[in-house]
Amino acid sequence: MATKKETKEKVKLEYEQKNGWTLATDKEKKAIFDFADKYMNFLDNAKTEREAVKTTVKMLEKEGFVDINTKKKLAAGDKIYYVNKAKSLYAAVIGTETLEHGINLCGAHIDSPRLDLKPNPLYEDGEIALFKTHYYGGIRKYQWTAIPLALHGVVALANGKVIDIHVGEDDKDPVFVISDLLPHLAAQQSKKPLNEAIAGEDLNVIVGSIPAAKEKDEDGKEKEAKNPIKKNILALLNEKYGITERDFVSAELEIVPAFKARSIGFDGGLIGAYGHDDRVCAFPELMALIDIKKPKKTAVCLLSDKEEVGSQGNSGMKSMNFELFLNQMLEKLDYNSPYALQKLLSNSKCLSADVTAAFDPTYAYVMEKQNAAYLAGGIAFCKYTGSRGKGGASDANAEFIGEVRGIMEANNVSYQFCEMGKVDEGGGGTIAYILADKGMEVLDCGVPVISMHAPFEQISKYDLYHSYLAYRAFLK
Ligand code: MN
Ligand code: MN
Repeated sequence: MATKKETKEKVKLEYEQKNGWTLATDKEKKAIFDFADKYMNFLDNAKTEREAVKTTVKMLEKEGFVDINTKKKLAAGDKIYYVNKAKSLYAAVIGTETLEHGINLCGAHIDSPRLDLKPNPLYEDGEIALFKTHYYGGIRKYQWTAIPLALHGVVALANGKVIDIHVGEDDKDPVFVISDLLPHLAAQQSKKPLNEAIAGEDLNVIVGSIPAAKEKDEDGKEKEAKNPIKKNILALLNEKYGITERDFVSAELEIVPAFKARSIGFDGGLIGAYGHDDRVCAFPELMALIDIKKPKKTAVCLLSDKEEVGSQGNSGMKSMNFELFLNQMLEKLDYNSPYALQKLLSNSKCLSADVTAAFDPTYAYVMEKQNAAYLAGGIAFCKYTGSRGKGGASDANAEFIGEVRGIMEANNVSYQFCEMGKVDEGGGGTIAYILADKGMEVLDCGVPVISMHAPFEQISKYDLYHSYLAYRAFLK
């Protein structure tokens, strides 16, 4: 609190949230746009959690990070990473202080809402071959019809070989699509509530339309083939990837939007793309970690999987493999004291980086204007998440928020404090509570998004850059 004397000297009593662009110099604007270009390139190469891990490993290795399993001992300044089940990743720059004093951690997730192929996906009906899907995460089903779609993922064969599939991104590639009704015949469907108009079982992806050539029997007569279009697709898949219909049962094939990240608006201030949630936090935290040289506290970034479906499983945030990684660091730094891991966890500080909703004037009625996050307001901090009386909330301690605020202010980072939507309007959660359960100080923060979870989400380039500055200042 300001003293009486300071107040007389015109200490600013009221807080005014500013649009970040009005504060940015030309030099900073250039840095913002350059950073955004790098991020857009990352997005186009990381549409699935597996691709995000692969792209990240490449980025990290270029900067001198090595797999922790290749190191016998660790020392201050060492840069390491750990890939967990090909779908999540932990990376660290070792600090000069002992690990028991805790780490500074930034955590984001790299899975995004999408459509997964069912175990037995392929069928033919009405002269069309289609894939059946089961959606992953919170999607609004009507948004996925009549847009170009791509297929990304792996097929794991019974012999242990894993085949990569990646169709629909190259301009010469075909794409896929889910059909929708024409307005002329949509009278019945149009009367349904938005959430029922397209059912989960309607999300069938068109993958072919040309029948296989008819086979001939011993007498040279053409045989009547069943499902010739499906057969043709299987033949094409076998030719290109060496797979058969049974192999779909041991595959992870994801249907994602086929479009690339683009600048939005005449001024190019926004980015539209698939999967901002939550790669728009993953990318800047990685870039921040790369900037860290020899910190006092060990700086750690984690990219987790399965957040959109509850964070469970061995690649999700609840996985004990994160503790295994921390234990490996402890071991390789020769800390053998009892409870070392627990002390590390309890003394650690974390920014849980995940997107929040940005104020959208078209849907202002779900927002409480005074506590909404705005585009170009900088990184958005949420003291608590949850819904309906903070149910399921991760609620950061005021003391830790004060500390983080101090770091942001000392480093000229634009930030805003918000909550997602009006009270009782809805809500959501992140990985924050899982890390807080382990004993860390955790604060939710991230980039505000418009059209979150849509196939094409929007964010501000300003907020992207200031979230990078925020993670960098925090990890330092
Ligand atoms: Mn998220
Ligand atoms: Mn999400």
